[in-house]
Amino acid sequence: MTETKSIIDLAKAAEARPAPTETEHAHRPSPQEGAPKEENAPREVLSELLKNVQSKIGWSELRLPSAGFNSSKVETIEIRPFTYEDEKLLRTTKTLSQGELIVEQLITRCIKGIEYKDLLLTDKNYILFKLREISYGDGYDIKATCNMCESENELQVELSKLPVVYAESEGDLEHKITLPDSKVEVIVKALKIEDEALLSNPATLIDNMWRLVESIGGHKERTVKQGFIQGTTAKDISVIRNSIFGGGIGMQTKVNYICNGCDSRDVIELPINEGFFDAN
Ligand SMILES: [Zn+2]
Repeated sequence: MTETKSIIDLAKAAEARPAPTETEHAHRPSPQEGAPKEENAPREVLSELLKNVQSKIGWSELRLPSAGFNSSKVETIEIRPFTYEDEKLLRTTKTLSQGELIVEQLITRCIKGIEYKDLLLTDKNYILFKLREISYGDGYDIKATCNMCESENELQVELSKLPVVYAESEGDLEHKITLPDSKVEVIVKALKIEDEALLSNPATLIDNMWRLVESIGGHKERTVKQGFIQGTTAKDISVIRNSIFGGGIGMQTKVNYICNGCDSRDVIELPINEGFFDAN
């Protein structure tokens, strides 16, 4: 019974669709049965209704903070805002781990010119903020609790106004630091997408710190890096950890504000909250 039905369906479909050309097929992934004349009218109506959003849903250029100095050598990519399909994908997220996978899918769909896995973490974060800005708007509401008086401040950050630091040489992708206790020079690499899993909790980070360090006192061997990290002081380790997370190229996400409660100046790291992928 089902077999007969599917054969009839196939025959009907073949009848209604007299071999579309390649281009036609690409523009119309699921052609409707019936007279093509009826399709024209709604399309005109739609393009009239959608005329103001045409310029807002196209691809635009985006220069990556790594600016061509990463191993991928890609300086500029193309980016587009979320569409209906992306929005649907986003709203199906149920758990945090699913969330990370969906972020990867969304970025992959919304950028052209580089593979997701070839992005530096700082490039990825910049793309996330850009996607928020071009999809839902520039104004982003956050809450900041004052360190002095604990008042809760409601702030609106204009994402497009946050400064972005671009690499000007390959050296800008790494940090060179001299550790305070051992006096040894350490080079810390720019984090890649694949390193993100190592940052998930403090214990994993300590265990894998040697992977994120390019060299210690000029030595690149795993055994030397691991042995040094296990043997040095907590202060040295803390300095290495801070340089893994701290500063460098990318969107500068420290937000300065003046507290409503006590007028003191404070600074917070821009959070990604429940309103991140939402219009204000
Ligand atoms: Zn305050």
